Amino acid sequence: MIDMGKKYDFLIVGTGLFGAVSAYLLKKKGYSILLIDKRDHIGGNVYTKNVKGINVHQYGAHIFHTSNKEVWDFVNSFVEFNRYTNSPVANYKGKLYNLPFNMNTFYQMWGVKTPEEAKAKIEEQKKEYHIEDPKNLEEQAISLIGKDIYEALIKGYTQKQWGRKCTELPAFIIKRLPVRFTFDNNYFNDKYQGIPEGGYTALIERMIEGCEVRLGVDYFDQKDALDALAERVIYTGEIDRYFNYQYGHLQYRTVSFETELLEGVENYQGNAVVNYTDAETPYTRIIEHKHFEMFGAAISDCPDTVISREYSKEWQPGDEPYYPVNDDKNSELYAKYKALADAQEKVIFGGRLAEYKYYDMHKVIEQAMEMVKEQCD
Ligand code: FAD
Ligand code: UDP
Repeated sequence: MIDMGKKYDFLIVGTGLFGAVSAYLLKKKGYSILLIDKRDHIGGNVYTKNVKGINVHQYGAHIFHTSNKEVWDFVNSFVEFNRYTNSPVANYKGKLYNLPFNMNTFYQMWGVKTPEEAKAKIEEQKKEYHIEDPKNLEEQAISLIGKDIYEALIKGYTQKQWGRKCTELPAFIIKRLPVRFTFDNNYFNDKYQGIPEGGYTALIERMIEGCEVRLGVDYFDQKDALDALAERVIYTGEIDRYFNYQYGHLQYRTVSFETELLEGVENYQGNAVVNYTDAETPYTRIIEHKHFEMFGAAISDCPDTVISREYSKEWQPGDEPYYPVNDDKNSELYAKYKALADAQEKVIFGGRLAEYKYYDMHKVIEQAMEMVKEQCD
């Protein structure tokens, strides 16, 4: 133990994945822990709420995927993960296409049946644009999958999601999506994928079992009193908030969710994720939560369904911070806050808000594992 004078070795601010994984690993090493969260529930953004037997992803659809066996074994040691494979469907003006871009999509768009025919079609469309070195998302998309798919499945969706034209967005955003010349609708290339049985809340509950947790407590409302309780602090909230926004606000992209319980509707859209890729539909996608955990006959065993429409919004201070905006302005601002954070001896900054990075769940787990190793081994 570090200091017998204080009640806890660590105060962990935030019960999201970073906080929960850190708590589990530190407790295993014998440290005493106090976890707090300003929300009235644990889990941060992976929190799932059970509504009529359906685990609703309250802060947006979360699909766990990783190629890291250590991380996969770690999460499976708390709860079993199911065989869910993400294969979203795109609805463009009433016509359906498979995602990510694969032989099914190419067949639906052009009627082509072989990889050779699909490649020839893309080449033919690409040629018209003479793109050597793609400079923005539009050029990158056209050179990857041609004009037709760009116009139908990317242009409108991306514009809605980012609130900017594809010509004004960086090329790398679209490179996240696989392009395959096989009939494979799996959205991810990772080796392992699934959803925790019983939802993510069950996963977090097991991780923090035996730790003291205080909910509905905002760290900044009683910072001095809380700091006095623990030898060290692990902070997983917004980094600019920690330093009282002294250099200004970091920006985020936010999403609002319109969630509806449809009683007596067994199966609303036949898939967990349907993207609306035209520019006119105001939402980007509809999530039907039961399909994350119910397959085959289990779908009709549950007579109701819950859906969420997602609207992408420009972020204002006070809104829920979702995706960091990694442009030059925000990166420079983050660097200034990071310098202040590095000078804090007793505080560790971790997770997607404190590091201002778009981390997937498996990445956050890796970061927390690394942090505990660095701090305690
Ligand atoms: P968070 O989950 O945000 O936890 C931080 C916690 O700190 C929160 O509970 C917050 O209430 C608390 N807190 C903050 N400030 C204070 C304070 N002052 N006092 C007390 N408590 C405080 N990843 C995937 O791998 N697959 C996906 O499909 C996926 N989908 C996503 C969809 C959306 C819409 C979003 C936004 C993210 C998605 N992610 C996905 C990423 C995933 O959500 C994150 O990797 C993960 O939740 C980050 O965990 P965290 O602990 O860093 O942060
Ligand atoms: N995208 C698209 N059409 C779709 C799905 C995704 O144009 O039907 C684009 C969009 O610009 C998005 C990018 O592909 O930002 C990456 O997709 P991903 O699903 O990873 O987006 P995220 O929601 O994680 O930002």
